[in-house]
Amino acid sequence: MKIIRSISSMKKCIKNERKKGPKIGFVPTMGYLHQGHISLAQQSVKECDVTVMSVYVNPTQFGLHEDYKKYPRDIKSDAALAKEAGVDYLFVPSDSDMYPLGFSSKVIVSNVTQMLCGASRPGHFDGVTTIVSKLFNIIEPNTVFFGQKDAQQIIVIKKMVKDLNIQLKIKALPIVRDSDGLAMSSRNAYLSKAQRLEALSLYQALQKAKELIGQGECNSAKIIASMKRLILRGKSVRIDYIAIVDAEDLSFKKHIKAKVLIAIAVFIGKVRLIDNLIIKV
Ligand code: AMP
Repeated sequence: MKIIRSISSMKKCIKNERKKGPKIGFVPTMGYLHQGHISLAQQSVKECDVTVMSVYVNPTQFGLHEDYKKYPRDIKSDAALAKEAGVDYLFVPSDSDMYPLGFSSKVIVSNVTQMLCGASRPGHFDGVTTIVSKLFNIIEPNTVFFGQKDAQQIIVIKKMVKDLNIQLKIKALPIVRDSDGLAMSSRNAYLSKAQRLEALSLYQALQKAKELIGQGECNSAKIIASMKRLILRGKSVRIDYIAIVDAEDLSFKKHIKAKVLIAIAVFIGKVRLIDNLIIKV
Protein backbone atom coordinates (compact mmCIF):
# COMPACT_ATOMS: atom_id res chain seq x y z
CA MET A 1 0.00 0.00 0.00
CA LYS A 2 1.27 3.46 -0.94
CA ILE A 3 0.57 6.48 1.24
CA ILE A 4 0.07 9.55 -0.96
CA ARG A 5 0.18 13.01 0.57
CA SER A 6 -0.32 15.37 -2.38
CA ILE A 7 -3.00 15.85 -5.01
CA SER A 8 -0.43 15.90 -7.81
CA SER A 9 1.09 12.52 -6.86
CA MET A 10 -2.37 11.03 -6.34
CA LYS A 11 -3.34 12.15 -9.86
CA LYS A 12 -0.09 10.76 -11.30
CA CYS A 13 -0.64 7.35 -9.69
CA ILE A 14 -4.23 7.20 -10.89
CA LYS A 15 -3.18 8.20 -14.41
CA ASN A 16 -0.66 5.34 -14.46
CA GLU A 17 -3.20 2.86 -13.08
CA ARG A 18 -5.78 3.99 -15.66
CA LYS A 19 -3.43 3.08 -18.52
CA LYS A 20 -3.84 -0.55 -17.42
CA GLY A 21 -7.62 -0.05 -17.56
CA PRO A 22 -8.65 -1.19 -14.11
CA LYS A 23 -11.85 -0.57 -12.19
CA ILE A 24 -11.03 1.97 -9.49
CA GLY A 25 -12.88 1.81 -6.17
CA PHE A 26 -12.84 4.70 -3.73
CA VAL A 27 -13.64 4.94 0.00
CA PRO A 28 -13.68 8.50 1.40
CA THR A 29 -13.22 8.78 5.18
CA MET A 30 -12.16 11.15 7.93
CA GLY A 31 -9.93 8.46 9.41
CA TYR A 32 -9.62 7.03 12.92
CA LEU A 33 -10.66 3.89 11.11
CA HIS A 34 -12.86 1.19 12.58
CA GLN A 35 -14.58 -1.89 11.20
CA GLY A 36 -17.33 0.26 9.62
CA HIS A 37 -14.77 1.97 7.37
CA ILE A 38 -12.91 -1.30 6.82
CA SER A 39 -16.09 -3.05 5.61
CA LEU A 40 -16.26 -0.44 2.82
CA ALA A 41 -12.61 -0.97 1.90
CA GLN A 42 -13.01 -4.74 1.88
CA GLN A 43 -16.01 -4.50 -0.45
CA SER A 44 -14.07 -2.22 -2.78
CA VAL A 45 -11.13 -4.64 -2.79
CA LYS A 46 -13.56 -7.44 -3.65
CA GLU A 47 -15.25 -5.56 -6.50
CA CYS A 48 -12.51 -3.37 -7.94
CA ASP A 49 -8.98 -3.80 -9.32
CA VAL A 50 -7.55 -0.83 -7.43
CA THR A 51 -8.82 0.63 -4.13
CA VAL A 52 -8.10 4.16 -2.99
CA MET A 53 -9.07 5.21 0.54
CA SER A 54 -8.83 8.83 1.62
CA VAL A 55 -8.27 10.03 5.17
CA TYR A 56 -9.04 13.72 5.47
CA VAL A 57 -10.72 15.58 8.33
CA ASN A 58 -12.44 18.19 6.21
CA PRO A 59 -12.61 21.53 8.08
CA THR A 60 -15.44 22.97 5.96
CA GLN A 61 -17.99 20.39 7.08
CA PHE A 62 -17.62 21.30 10.77
CA GLY A 63 -19.52 24.18 12.38
CA LEU A 64 -17.69 26.86 14.35
CA HIS A 65 -18.42 25.26 17.72
CA GLU A 66 -18.08 21.65 16.61
CA ASP A 67 -15.28 19.16 17.23
CA TYR A 68 -12.99 19.79 14.21
CA LYS A 69 -9.89 20.48 16.32
CA LYS A 70 -10.30 17.54 18.63
CA TYR A 71 -11.66 15.07 16.08
CA PRO A 72 -9.68 11.84 16.75
CA ARG A 73 -6.72 11.26 14.43
CA ASP A 74 -4.29 8.32 14.25
CA ILE A 75 -2.72 7.96 10.84
CA LYS A 76 -0.34 5.14 11.93
CA SER A 77 -3.19 2.90 13.00
CA ASP A 78 -5.25 3.95 9.94
CA ALA A 79 -2.41 2.97 7.61
CA ALA A 80 -2.01 -0.43 9.30
CA LEU A 81 -5.75 -1.17 9.12
CA ALA A 82 -6.09 0.03 5.52
CA LYS A 83 -3.09 -2.04 4.43
CA GLU A 84 -4.51 -5.13 6.11
CA ALA A 85 -7.85 -4.57 4.32
CA GLY A 86 -6.04 -4.61 0.97
CA VAL A 87 -6.19 -0.88 0.14
CA ASP A 88 -3.73 0.04 -2.63
CA TYR A 89 -3.48 3.79 -2.08
CA LEU A 90 -4.12 5.72 1.14
CA PHE A 91 -4.64 9.37 0.18
CA VAL A 92 -3.88 11.74 3.06
CA PRO A 93 -3.90 15.25 1.62
CA SER A 94 -2.96 18.40 3.54
CA ASP A 95 -5.28 21.34 4.21
CA SER A 96 -3.06 23.65 2.15
CA ASP A 97 -3.34 21.32 -0.84
CA MET A 98 -7.11 20.86 -0.51
CA TYR A 99 -7.91 24.47 0.34
CA PRO A 100 -5.07 26.63 -0.99
CA LEU A 101 -5.03 30.35 -0.30
CA GLY A 102 -7.79 31.99 -2.34
CA PHE A 103 -9.96 28.87 -2.57
CA SER A 104 -13.47 30.24 -3.17
CA SER A 105 -15.78 27.58 -4.58
CA LYS A 106 -18.61 25.55 -3.09
CA VAL A 107 -20.81 22.74 -4.33
CA ILE A 108 -24.30 23.12 -2.88
CA VAL A 109 -27.15 20.62 -3.11
CA SER A 110 -30.53 22.06 -2.07
CA ASN A 111 -33.71 20.46 -0.64
CA VAL A 112 -32.40 17.13 0.74
CA THR A 113 -29.75 19.06 2.71
CA GLN A 114 -32.28 21.18 4.58
CA MET A 115 -33.69 18.72 7.11
CA LEU A 116 -32.28 16.33 9.78
CA CYS A 117 -28.48 16.84 10.09
CA GLY A 118 -28.68 19.70 7.58
CA ALA A 119 -31.06 21.61 9.88
CA SER A 120 -28.93 20.98 12.99
CA ARG A 121 -25.59 21.60 11.30
CA PRO A 122 -26.02 24.54 8.89
CA GLY A 123 -23.47 24.40 6.06
CA HIS A 124 -22.36 20.86 6.94
CA PHE A 125 -23.49 19.30 3.67
CA ASP A 126 -22.00 22.16 1.60
CA GLY A 127 -18.65 21.16 3.09
CA VAL A 128 -19.33 17.48 2.39
CA THR A 129 -20.40 17.94 -1.24
CA THR A 130 -17.51 20.33 -1.93
CA ILE A 131 -14.84 17.98 -0.56
CA VAL A 132 -16.42 14.88 -2.10
CA SER A 133 -16.55 16.61 -5.52
CA LYS A 134 -12.88 17.48 -5.20
CA LEU A 135 -12.01 13.90 -4.25
CA PHE A 136 -14.08 12.54 -7.16
CA ASN A 137 -12.24 14.86 -9.56
CA ILE A 138 -8.82 13.88 -8.21
CA ILE A 139 -9.40 10.11 -8.12
CA GLU A 140 -11.99 9.68 -10.90
CA PRO A 141 -13.24 6.42 -9.39
CA ASN A 142 -15.62 3.99 -11.11
CA THR A 143 -17.33 3.03 -7.85
CA VAL A 144 -17.50 4.84 -4.52
CA PHE A 145 -18.41 3.09 -1.27
CA PHE A 146 -20.38 4.81 1.51
CA GLY A 147 -21.86 3.56 4.78
CA GLN A 148 -25.60 3.57 5.43
CA LYS A 149 -24.68 5.01 8.85
CA ASP A 150 -24.70 8.45 7.18
CA ALA A 151 -28.03 7.86 5.43
CA GLN A 152 -28.68 11.51 4.55
CA GLN A 153 -25.13 11.92 3.20
CA ILE A 154 -25.73 9.10 0.72
CA ILE A 155 -28.97 10.70 -0.51
CA VAL A 156 -27.25 14.10 -0.86
CA ILE A 157 -24.29 12.66 -2.76
CA LYS A 158 -26.50 10.55 -5.03
CA LYS A 159 -28.43 13.72 -5.88
CA MET A 160 -25.21 15.64 -6.60
CA VAL A 161 -23.89 12.82 -8.82
CA LYS A 162 -27.17 12.69 -10.75
CA ASP A 163 -27.61 16.46 -11.10
CA LEU A 164 -24.01 17.08 -12.17
CA ASN A 165 -23.72 13.99 -14.44
CA ILE A 166 -20.74 12.63 -12.54
CA GLN A 167 -19.73 9.29 -14.08
CA LEU A 168 -19.55 6.84 -11.19
CA LYS A 169 -21.53 4.27 -9.26
CA ILE A 170 -22.40 4.72 -5.60
CA LYS A 171 -22.68 1.71 -3.33
CA ALA A 172 -24.23 1.97 0.12
CA LEU A 173 -23.20 -0.70 2.64
CA PRO A 174 -24.90 -1.68 5.93
CA ILE A 175 -24.11 -0.14 9.31
CA VAL A 176 -21.46 -2.07 11.22
CA ARG A 177 -22.24 -2.31 14.95
CA ASP A 178 -20.45 -3.42 18.09
CA SER A 179 -21.79 -6.68 19.52
CA ASP A 180 -24.16 -4.76 21.84
CA GLY A 181 -25.68 -2.82 18.93
CA LEU A 182 -23.87 0.51 19.18
CA ALA A 183 -23.13 1.76 15.66
CA MET A 184 -19.38 2.06 15.20
CA SER A 185 -18.21 5.64 14.95
CA SER A 186 -14.88 7.45 15.31
CA ARG A 187 -16.67 9.70 17.82
CA ASN A 188 -17.37 6.71 20.13
CA ALA A 189 -13.77 7.22 21.26
CA TYR A 190 -14.91 10.35 23.15
CA LEU A 191 -17.44 8.43 25.30
CA SER A 192 -16.80 7.55 28.92
CA LYS A 193 -17.87 4.08 30.10
CA ALA A 194 -21.11 5.47 31.54
CA GLN A 195 -21.83 7.51 28.41
CA ARG A 196 -21.22 4.50 26.19
CA LEU A 197 -23.90 2.64 28.12
CA GLU A 198 -26.31 5.54 27.59
CA ALA A 199 -25.41 5.59 23.89
CA LEU A 200 -26.86 2.09 23.55
CA SER A 201 -30.29 3.69 23.77
CA LEU A 202 -30.02 4.87 20.15
CA TYR A 203 -29.98 1.30 18.89
CA GLN A 204 -32.55 0.21 21.47
CA ALA A 205 -34.91 3.00 20.37
CA LEU A 206 -34.57 1.94 16.73
CA GLN A 207 -35.33 -1.65 17.74
CA LYS A 208 -38.35 -0.41 19.71
CA ALA A 209 -39.61 1.42 16.60
CA LYS A 210 -39.15 -1.73 14.52
CA GLU A 211 -41.07 -3.76 17.11
CA LEU A 212 -43.95 -1.24 17.21
CA ILE A 213 -44.18 -1.12 13.42
CA GLY A 214 -44.13 -4.93 13.40
CA GLN A 215 -47.14 -4.86 15.74
CA GLY A 216 -49.00 -2.67 13.25
CA GLU A 217 -48.36 0.80 14.69
CA CYS A 218 -48.15 3.26 11.82
CA ASN A 219 -48.50 6.61 13.57
CA SER A 220 -45.06 8.24 13.42
CA ALA A 221 -45.73 10.61 16.36
CA LYS A 222 -46.56 7.69 18.66
CA ILE A 223 -43.48 5.76 17.60
CA ILE A 224 -41.25 8.81 18.06
CA ALA A 225 -42.74 9.48 21.52
CA SER A 226 -41.95 5.96 22.59
CA MET A 227 -38.38 6.23 21.24
CA LYS A 228 -37.94 9.54 23.09
CA ARG A 229 -39.05 8.03 26.39
CA LEU A 230 -36.49 5.29 26.05
CA ILE A 231 -33.61 7.60 25.08
CA LEU A 232 -34.35 10.23 27.74
CA ARG A 233 -33.75 7.68 30.52
CA GLY A 234 -30.05 8.54 30.07
CA LYS A 235 -28.79 11.33 32.37
CA SER A 236 -26.38 12.99 29.94
CA VAL A 237 -28.62 12.70 26.89
CA ARG A 238 -30.02 15.53 24.78
CA ILE A 239 -32.04 14.66 21.69
CA ASP A 240 -31.12 16.63 18.57
CA TYR A 241 -33.78 14.96 16.43
CA ILE A 242 -35.74 11.78 15.95
CA ALA A 243 -37.48 11.67 12.60
CA ILE A 244 -39.40 9.28 10.41
CA VAL A 245 -38.95 10.26 6.78
CA ASP A 246 -39.30 8.88 3.28
CA ALA A 247 -36.18 6.80 2.62
CA GLU A 248 -35.71 8.30 -0.86
CA ASP A 249 -36.49 12.03 -0.58
CA LEU A 250 -36.40 12.54 3.23
CA SER A 251 -39.87 14.12 3.35
CA PHE A 252 -41.51 13.74 6.78
CA LYS A 253 -43.98 10.86 7.08
CA LYS A 254 -46.92 11.20 9.48
CA HIS A 255 -47.91 7.63 8.71
CA ILE A 256 -45.55 4.76 8.08
CA LYS A 257 -45.87 3.55 4.50
CA ALA A 258 -43.61 1.89 1.93
CA LYS A 259 -39.95 2.49 2.77
CA VAL A 260 -39.16 4.80 5.67
CA LEU A 261 -35.93 5.95 7.25
CA ILE A 262 -35.99 6.29 11.02
CA ALA A 263 -33.14 8.64 11.87
CA ILE A 264 -31.76 9.71 15.23
CA ALA A 265 -29.21 12.30 16.32
CA VAL A 266 -28.46 12.53 20.02
CA PHE A 267 -25.91 14.32 22.17
CA ILE A 268 -24.42 12.17 24.92
CA GLY A 269 -22.70 14.87 26.94
CA LYS A 270 -20.94 16.84 24.19
CA VAL A 271 -20.68 13.90 21.79
CA ARG A 272 -23.13 13.95 18.90
CA LEU A 273 -24.03 10.47 17.66
CA ILE A 274 -26.27 9.42 14.79
CA ASP A 275 -27.94 6.15 13.92
CA ASN A 276 -30.74 4.99 11.67
CA LEU A 277 -32.83 2.14 10.39
CA ILE A 278 -34.66 1.65 7.10
CA ILE A 279 -37.96 -0.18 7.35
CA LYS A 280 -40.00 -1.48 4.43
CA VAL A 281 -43.67 -1.91 5.26
P1 AMP B 1 -16.44 9.13 8.41
O1 AMP B 1 -14.99 8.80 8.57
O2 AMP B 1 -17.21 9.12 9.69
O3 AMP B 1 -16.66 10.38 7.58
O4 AMP B 1 -17.07 7.95 7.55
C1 AMP B 1 -16.52 7.56 6.32
C2 AMP B 1 -17.42 6.53 5.69
O5 AMP B 1 -17.54 5.41 6.55
C3 AMP B 1 -18.85 7.06 5.46
O6 AMP B 1 -19.34 6.55 4.22
C4 AMP B 1 -19.60 6.47 6.62
O7 AMP B 1 -20.98 6.29 6.38
C5 AMP B 1 -18.91 5.13 6.79
N1 AMP B 1 -19.13 4.60 8.13
C6 AMP B 1 -18.87 5.22 9.31
N2 AMP B 1 -19.28 4.44 10.35
C7 AMP B 1 -19.81 3.32 9.80
C8 AMP B 1 -20.42 2.15 10.34
N3 AMP B 1 -20.56 1.94 11.66
N4 AMP B 1 -20.85 1.21 9.48
C9 AMP B 1 -20.72 1.38 8.14
N5 AMP B 1 -20.16 2.46 7.57
C10 AMP B 1 -19.71 3.42 8.39
